[in-house]
Amino acid sequence: MEIQSAAAALCHGAGSPAIRSNFTWVDQLVLNGIAHSATFASEAQELSTSDLVVFLEPVMNMPSELSAYLVFMSATPACRFVRIRYDIHLSDPRAIAMIGHELRHALEIANHPEVVDNLTLSAMYKRFGKRVTDGEMYDSVEAVTAGRIILQELLNPVALNADDDR
Ligand SMILES: [Zn+2]
Repeated sequence: MEIQSAAAALCHGAGSPAIRSNFTWVDQLVLNGIAHSATFASEAQELSTSDLVVFLEPVMNMPSELSAYLVFMSATPACRFVRIRYDIHLSDPRAIAMIGHELRHALEIANHPEVVDNLTLSAMYKRFGKRVTDGEMYDSVEAVTAGRIILQELLNPVALNADDDR
């Protein structure tokens, strides 16, 4: 999928990565994901050519039954900003897998320029996502699949070459 590279240049120019955090160890987690999961690496690559900037925030007290979730932050003419919150207690492979799950959602948003706030985000998932709780929580098959594959790639690197069906 082709996304405006002009927007990407504005958002990710001057060495500003598409995936950011306030913590060196979280940045390192992302680098580990890129190094050890082809799926995670391709998500990061795709994001760097989009108008999305993703902030990662490890959270001590997640809402119950949630490992990670994404919220829309803001939109400027050049870029759109989203935040991924994830459970700080997750093991590294699970944290990377959950971040990768949410990065798939970020890419879904990247492909829907009409999404500019949490209302338009909900509207997008009402059209093609599936509701997973009684509230405004949605999921997509693609994100769930991405998370599973990333975890598999991290825990069982041997399967990387054998498995071509993603
Ligand atoms: Zn999801």
